[in-house]
Amino acid sequence: MPELLAAPLIRDVPDFPKPGIIFKDITPVLEDAKAFKEVVDLLTEDARTKGAETIVGIESRGFIFGVPVALNLGLPFAMARKLGKLPYDRISEEYALEYGTNVVEMHVDAIKPGQKAYIVDDLLATGGTAAAAARLVERLEGKVCGFGCLIELSFLNGRQNLLEYPITALMEF
Ligand code: AMP
Repeated sequence: MPELLAAPLIRDVPDFPKPGIIFKDITPVLEDAKAFKEVVDLLTEDARTKGAETIVGIESRGFIFGVPVALNLGLPFAMARKLGKLPYDRISEEYALEYGTNVVEMHVDAIKPGQKAYIVDDLLATGGTAAAAARLVERLEGKVCGFGCLIELSFLNGRQNLLEYPITALMEF
């Protein structure tokens, strides 16, 4: 497969948000309409193949890529948000990040029992965030049919935290 248009656009920002972290900045991809469309089209095709019935986006870059996938497929979009952002009744899961810990939440009615959910984020690092989002989906009695992201930092072995789920990463670093 030829290199993605987005691959050379991923910008490394050293020491953000903490010393020693190389932050993979996807904003140049958003500024290139063809590259942005290519990644959305690939994730859309993957979600379709997995039989997705709803798309779950992880705040906040998972929203940017997840919403167009949901619209392309005519599917609902559900938000997995950081602690304290969702207004209605919600459930929470704590997880460890590559840099620190965090809590992710979903509304109690965001997933219908038995619904197949495809989870989208920009990047898979340790897999803690994606695993927490998957636990939320499962607590709401949904089924995780796949996880799609632009970038996988394979040296962090995030897949070890997500062994039950099919993972699609468009690029690996
Ligand atoms: P993890 O839970 O360790 O898989 O971390 C994934 C989440 O943290 C995603 O929402 C990413 O946007 C963000 N993240 C973690 N590490 C990085 C990184 N090196 N560059 C950009 N985003 C990151």
